Amino acid sequence: MNENTISAAPATFDAVVIGAGPVGLACALEVRRRGLSVCVVDKGALVNSLVGYPTNMEFFSTPELLEIGGYPFPTAHYKPLREDALDYYRRVAVAEQLPLRLYERVLSLEGQPGAYEVVTEKGRLATRYVIVATGFFDIPNRLSVPGEDASHVSYYYKEPYAHVGQQVVVIGAKNSAAKAALQLVRAGAQVSLVVRGAAISESVKYWIRPDLVNRIAEGRIRAYFHTTVQRISAAGVAVLTPEGPATLPADFVYALTGYHPDYSLLAALGISCQDDVARTPSHSPDTFETNRPGVYVAGTVCGGLNTSRWFIENGRHHAAVIAAHLAATSL
Ligand SMILES: Cc1cc2nc3c(=O)[nH]c(=O)nc-3n(C[C@H](O)[C@H](O)[C@H](O)COP(=O)(O)OP(=O)(O)OC[C@H]3O[C@@H](n4cnc5c(N)ncnc54)[C@H](O)[C@@H]3O)c2cc1C
Repeated sequence: MNENTISAAPATFDAVVIGAGPVGLACALEVRRRGLSVCVVDKGALVNSLVGYPTNMEFFSTPELLEIGGYPFPTAHYKPLREDALDYYRRVAVAEQLPLRLYERVLSLEGQPGAYEVVTEKGRLATRYVIVATGFFDIPNRLSVPGEDASHVSYYYKEPYAHVGQQVVVIGAKNSAAKAALQLVRAGAQVSLVVRGAAISESVKYWIRPDLVNRIAEGRIRAYFHTTVQRISAAGVAVLTPEGPATLPADFVYALTGYHPDYSLLAALGISCQDDVARTPSHSPDTFETNRPGVYVAGTVCGGLNTSRWFIENGRHHAAVIAAHLAATSL
């Protein structure tokens, strides 16, 4: 097989993994190492969430904490860039010849324990087990204000270069908003930062927060605290500040207000949610098996609305637990 070839998948498997993110790939590797057949299905590209992250984004984790399947992740930098991670996970998938079905959205799950059918937009995959590793990056926490769907409004930030000399409003106060605001101002945009709370979140990484606080203090970024967005229009972003209503000029708007799991997909897969504030997908903390026998959750999706509970560093370890459990059961 050519180094860049990804093998085609047959249609009946011991396990189907939904989601070709780092944790989904880790699950597929662990399942295969127990002698079971597996297929990974993703509605987008390989590691689709990482493809959507900002250009040249630096991970906060050091490379060994992002490794899967025991493959070393050599990098030139102390912290890997998005591009390093994209290359690393691709190399692992190719080295393992993982059966991948990309750009194939999963819609629902039919059948009985031991004889499931994963229904996708392109067909059906018969399988005994299902591992749901669908993350949270596809569904933004929307502003729910008039104008939020305008073409100059985005819930995803890539890079600052299109915004030189432009008025840009960034909404949010966590890592993504902080990094975007800093990059934009350094690329020559005029940046207004709208923050619902009283301050930049304490959860912003310790090497980013002081940089942002100092840029606000010196007036290079105009920050509006205790401020909520009312509407977005060609006139700008209408906000309510403690001093009253104001309109912030906006050629572009980045609403970086977080994301949440696809609860309609979880429901279509027959996975219920706990009655807690995080709407945690029901699962055993010991095995990650959900309320539907033989169906598991893995990675970020396990935390529900608590999207910082599980990430690559700790979520990748779900793979071995799940693989061991499903290999030991006999559905
Ligand atoms: C800017 C940023 C920086 C980060 N830095 C770090 C870091 O330094 N260290 C760290 O450990 N974590 C970091 N994280 C978090 C980490 O990237 C995520 O926790 C990680 O991607 C979770 O992996 P996952 O495999 O659970 O989910 P994801 O990587 O989100 O993968 C889910 C996959 O499921 C697919 N999918 C969803 N719905 C369907 C469907 N219906 N059918 C088929 N496929 C579907 C998606 O397309 C996606 O490919 C960062 C996150 C962000 C946003």
